[in-house]
Amino acid sequence: MSNADMVARDLQVVWHPCTQMKDTERMPPIPIKRGEGVWLEDFEGNRYIDAVSSWWVNIFGHANPAINDRIKTQLDTLEHVMLAGFSHEPAVELAERLVKATPAGLTRAFYADNGSAAVEVALKMSFHYWRNTGHGEKTRFINLSNSYHGETLGALAVGDVDLYKKTYEPLLLKPLTARSPDCYEREPGVSWEEHSRAVFADMEALLAEYAHETCAVIVEPLLQCAGHMRMYHPVYLELLREACTRHGVHLIADEIAVGFGRTGTLFACEQAGPEGQPNGISPDFMCLSKGLTAGYLPLSVTMTTEDIYQAFYDDYANLSAFLHSHSYTGNPLACAAALATLDEFERLDQVNVNRRLAQHMADAVAPLKDHPNVGEVRQTGMVLAIEMVRDKATKTPFDWRERRGIEVYRHALTQGALLRPLGDVIYFMPPYVITPEQIAHLGQVAAEGIERAVST
Ligand code: PMP
Repeated sequence: MSNADMVARDLQVVWHPCTQMKDTERMPPIPIKRGEGVWLEDFEGNRYIDAVSSWWVNIFGHANPAINDRIKTQLDTLEHVMLAGFSHEPAVELAERLVKATPAGLTRAFYADNGSAAVEVALKMSFHYWRNTGHGEKTRFINLSNSYHGETLGALAVGDVDLYKKTYEPLLLKPLTARSPDCYEREPGVSWEEHSRAVFADMEALLAEYAHETCAVIVEPLLQCAGHMRMYHPVYLELLREACTRHGVHLIADEIAVGFGRTGTLFACEQAGPEGQPNGISPDFMCLSKGLTAGYLPLSVTMTTEDIYQAFYDDYANLSAFLHSHSYTGNPLACAAALATLDEFERLDQVNVNRRLAQHMADAVAPLKDHPNVGEVRQTGMVLAIEMVRDKATKTPFDWRERRGIEVYRHALTQGALLRPLGDVIYFMPPYVITPEQIAHLGQVAAEGIERAVST
């Protein structure tokens, strides 16, 4: 079967996510036949480095032998059982290990099957906690501008990216939005720390005014991924944790994209604390998905505290239980993939290995910093982003309708790399099995692609 045959069949029946389907006339989907390590291979043998980890999920490469084996063994034992009234070993072992791996105080794991669902669980659980404890007046949430937390109606409501949200606005609950500590917006000469600290005043003011009616603040720690990979300083998390406690408001850390080593530590929340000696913060809820199964199977978990768990622990007749459920909650195959993922982190000492890889990523794009159409090259651990602009001095963006990022994407495909951009932001967020040579290749492809994109 050729690529063209596959595409023809696809376009007869499949409606693709996050896609204007008319675009497929110019950019047909690329049919992938197999994957191996960082590579994706189409039906005609063309290979592409999966530099965006297939929407940030893949961690240890495609068709990873260790993860494959674990899933195959699980498959012959138990493929699925519902988690209400029943239990199974992979779900129990995974919860035990996540309690140990996540910040102190997160002692309970509530499973679901995708990131948006984990966010919905955190929002509902927070609201319901306050209700169960006699605070029915708390009904609101605070988010950050430019944040993203998923696409289901609740998760979409607490996001702030117009592209995904605006159309559905009439259907959504209305959060209170504090200014993002995004350091791309800092004035010249101002450090990341100074900027993020100063912007916190906006959050503090919202909390001071609305804490009495607010259930929780939700943030993506350190990095607003779908918000064009905008980054901020960990001091913001420290200030936020302290303020949430002081104001009696929960803190929800959405580590769906940034968790599992992306930011340089296993979880981004670990980086909060004094420079050089961070001891991390503990949120009241931590949402995990994506890298949880190394990109193998849909699974998510909302970690929470004993205090929150206990507020639901009651006689049935009081009707205070958390009844949220999804059919595939805690699927054993997905839990097996997650257990294999945690094993790989330990076996490979991956968090430390990533320090070296992150340096290679920085080196690969170093020349781009001075490019007249690059507003910023920024990096947090294993995520590196290059923001293309029309004018470097003023950081004036290109007209979004020119879709220059797509030109970089198209060029990269001809050079064996999958670099799906976010608007005019080109980024690397690769599987951790990538080699320094492959990173160097990505740097070269991005530089050529940007040159082409800005000179048309
Ligand atoms: N939160 C964040 C920070 C995300 O990046 C995403 C997915 N891109 C989600 C939530 C939603 O996860 P899912 O796509 O699995 O619903």
